[in-house]
Amino acid sequence: MHAYRASLLRFSPEGEALFDDDGLLVTAPDQDGVQRVVDAGPHREVAARHPQAAVTHWPGRILAPGFIDMHVHYPQTDIIGAPADGLLPWLERYTFPAEARFADPAHAAEVAGFFLDELQRHGVTTALTFCTSHPASVDAFFTEARRRRLRMMGGKVLQDRHSPDGVRDETGQSLIDTEALIRRWHGQGRLGYAITPRFAPTSSEAQLRGAGELAARYPSTWIHSHVAENKDEVRWARELFPQARSYLDVYQGFGLMRERAVYAHCIHFDDADRQLMRETGAAAAVSPTSNLFLGSGFFDYAGAERIGMRHGLASDVGGGTSFSPFHTMLAAYCVGREGQTKPGLSLPPSRLWWNATGGAARALGLAGVVGTLQAGTEADVVVLNPQATPLLARKTAHAQSLEELLFSLIVLGDDRVVERVLVA
Ligand SMILES: [Zn+2]
Repeated sequence: MHAYRASLLRFSPEGEALFDDDGLLVTAPDQDGVQRVVDAGPHREVAARHPQAAVTHWPGRILAPGFIDMHVHYPQTDIIGAPADGLLPWLERYTFPAEARFADPAHAAEVAGFFLDELQRHGVTTALTFCTSHPASVDAFFTEARRRRLRMMGGKVLQDRHSPDGVRDETGQSLIDTEALIRRWHGQGRLGYAITPRFAPTSSEAQLRGAGELAARYPSTWIHSHVAENKDEVRWARELFPQARSYLDVYQGFGLMRERAVYAHCIHFDDADRQLMRETGAAAAVSPTSNLFLGSGFFDYAGAERIGMRHGLASDVGGGTSFSPFHTMLAAYCVGREGQTKPGLSLPPSRLWWNATGGAARALGLAGVVGTLQAGTEADVVVLNPQATPLLARKTAHAQSLEELLFSLIVLGDDRVVERVLVA
């Protein structure tokens, strides 16, 4: 049993931010050797309950839940910051050539290692990532994640049409490969498999149907795709699937909407789409830096709230411009404020933070597992330094409330704030 003394940020299971200036977090390993939170709260109270625990003291630091990235592409690490005229040209010019290289297991292993280093440097301890259409890209990713004992989800991309040589897969084989990868990796330690059709336009009906059948046969797997990111893409999907009510409805028609189904973007939606998300338990991975970078549009937070659609935050690197949850939270705030194309609102800082931790966990079907530092959850913890830069030190010294403190970190923070990361 070990205890860590510092300021402590936690969340209630419902998403209320809880803060102790002088806090104590007590952890102990479970039977699998995974460190779990035993107790957490004000130092005075918690220390009295665990007099035998050895204490590490980090004065002036903040302990907080490890961040969660609901949607990212590890094979796009090297094309972050590649300019293009919107989504579809960007895929052709940069993404598909970069992903074609992942047929080589050595290249995949090298990028997977760098990617996970980068996530940890930014305090991200759980992510749902695309791999590429090559099974070797999945093996490389999970091998590295397992070595680091991280809670990670990923899967082989399905794309059997409208894709160039080098990334296009073959319908029957792609489904055989997916099932073999589910059996190899899903539920191994902290790893989870995600059935991953790239997006409806690059999969045949037979491939989408097969993906839906696998999703029914393995109900604890994730489903991971994109929807309604860009208006040209929406138009294309509607042409290819004229029988569906909407782009989102294509996925519903193939059995690809349920709990643990995660759709990146969800921008060009109507209320019927939002209702379908709510009714099926699917979740939106909101990717604000990517949406701003590619000029895709603005996620409608008021609409999501009005209907009760599950959502959380994502970097979407390489469309996204940063692995940093601080940058993502700030971009989400700006997207929320935008009030010309949809209602604008000011998302409270503690809500933004929740969307990057416990709220993202809940949207992913991982409530009670990670993201809150509640007792019983896995102890993925970041140690933050609110004085990491001169301006941050000056600003946080004058914070009058928790919301002011969190907002200073969101606006001015980056990887320099993340002093260390404790993985389970
Ligand atoms: Zn994406």
